[in-house]
Amino acid sequence: MNLILLTPAEIQRERLACVRDPRRLRHLREVHRAQVGDRLTLGVTGGGIGYGELVRLTDDEARFALGAFDTPPPPPLPVHLVLALPRPRMLARSLEHLTALGVKQVTLLHTQRVEKSYWQSPELAAKKIHEHLVLGLEQARDTMLPDVSLAKGFRPFVEECLPALLDGRRGLLAHPGMAQSCPRGLNEPTVLLVGPEGGFIPYEVERLLAAGCEGIHLGPRILRVETAVTALLARLF
Ligand code: SAM
Repeated sequence: MNLILLTPAEIQRERLACVRDPRRLRHLREVHRAQVGDRLTLGVTGGGIGYGELVRLTDDEARFALGAFDTPPPPPLPVHLVLALPRPRMLARSLEHLTALGVKQVTLLHTQRVEKSYWQSPELAAKKIHEHLVLGLEQARDTMLPDVSLAKGFRPFVEECLPALLDGRRGLLAHPGMAQSCPRGLNEPTVLLVGPEGGFIPYEVERLLAAGCEGIHLGPRILRVETAVTALLARLF
């Protein structure tokens, strides 16, 4: 937690904030070893970054006297990530990593090799997704939550959603064995598609290429989904 992310509701008066949830209190005590008088980096969800002086710390609450929140959050990556729904534990880690890296638009997609049971996972509840996004923001000192949407059908996604997503964006399909190696240093709006643990099936690859995506590879090593997402984003941007 490199930033204590406040919700607007935690700011009681303009210059005073109160944190009561056990996770952040525990982190303040056990990791920051915070003491009254310490100055810590705070941010407001959807707003700026600043600092707060810890003026009270008990088992139940931490109170901060707030300074100015005039530092903007870091810039977002110009990418919409379309990620085939990974298994629940990998989803949790992937959401944290991609949020920390600056992705602001995510679509979780059903493909042939996504286990249907993954769509019933408690990890997909809005509250759980939100928790992982917040962990990513706190890690990276960011305040702007990504938008996460679900696309539970591959064909409807390709036929009804993808054309609009690709309007004004470069589509990149990460798939081992494609001819083009992953480009570097992009600064243009991009849609990046990453497959499930078993990969995209040939029909899906064909449909995505026909829709206008460029196939790209990261070399001969087949990476886990969460590693591939990190490697692709780091190399592309
Ligand atoms: N056996 C699967 C295949 O060959 O497609 C492996 C899938 S991999 C575990 C999961 C996803 O990560 C892939 O669908 C792809 O999007 C991405 N990925 C992993 N390694 C890659 C590589 N070397 N090049 C391009 N994409 C890769």
